[in-house]
Amino acid sequence: MVGTQAPVTIGWENIPKVEGGPVKLFIFTWFQPAVLFALIAFWYYAPNSIAKTSTAIGIGIGFRALLIGMEWMYPRHESWNLTWRELVTDLFYVGLGYTVLSMVDGLIGDGPMIESIQNYFSWNKFMWFLALPLLVQAFLISFVFDFGQYWMHRGMHNWYPLWLPHSVHHYITQLNINKGAVGNPVELFLIGLGIGGFFDFLPRAALLAGSLGLAVGSYQHINVRFNTPRWWRFMFNTTEHHSLHHSQDYESTRSNYTNTWIIIDRMFGTCIDGEAELLGMEGGRRMSIREQMTYPFSEGWRSLQTRFKRHATLPLAVPAE
Ligand SMILES: [Zn+2]
Ligand SMILES: [Zn+2]
Repeated sequence: MVGTQAPVTIGWENIPKVEGGPVKLFIFTWFQPAVLFALIAFWYYAPNSIAKTSTAIGIGIGFRALLIGMEWMYPRHESWNLTWRELVTDLFYVGLGYTVLSMVDGLIGDGPMIESIQNYFSWNKFMWFLALPLLVQAFLISFVFDFGQYWMHRGMHNWYPLWLPHSVHHYITQLNINKGAVGNPVELFLIGLGIGGFFDFLPRAALLAGSLGLAVGSYQHINVRFNTPRWWRFMFNTTEHHSLHHSQDYESTRSNYTNTWIIIDRMFGTCIDGEAELLGMEGGRRMSIREQMTYPFSEGWRSLQTRFKRHATLPLAVPAE
């Protein structure tokens, strides 16, 4: 598993820990659980007047700004530090995500699809769900949504037509808080499809589930090290897990497909605990924005051509008897 060119570290015992004084150690051990519990408490108790999507968006932006500050103060790897070129690319995709993708998603994404399914089966079929305690509802929304994402992501790594759009995300060569947005728009749309939307008529449970995604999923791509407690790493996806998924070691990239619940990977035997610093396809070849946009199509076209050429030349290649 360990190649000389792209080393990966396997197992929690072998990965570096946060170094520093007791205050720093305390903060970097409990930051993630504290934020998660604070968000859950907030959405659980918030009065209806503020429990709405605009508040969630505001919290999301504020949280990201805080994490960018932490990356700047306490980078995990110097080699992952932001350069101007990386920042410009990231901002391009974050902007794209907020505008074009939400428009496309609203038109042909899961919203209208789910609506038509709900109309077809009638709402009442989902009413039992409303009777569950709020936190159970939130857990189920988050888990079911992640379960769908798991299979979509795993499918992308196993079926060439889905791999083509996803492969672009695997050409990133460093992790930071905005890298989750970087990828070909076609894959960003595919990964945005989720079956969790079936339950979105329960606003507060959906907001709670969303904060789970924010307070756990955000750490997939971040240039900060945490000494997260063992129970957290057992249940939740971490930077360590996702860095292996982005590593230059092929076997390691075929692991850790979930966004939030790494326990789903454990259930299906695709979890690898550990981490990697050297990232990216083709030994870490960096793509320009232009190539990120066109690669799935040009590469798909090239594969098709090679295929046809092989078929066309096959009879000629057979030596005459
Ligand atoms: Zn992947
Ligand atoms: Zn990623």
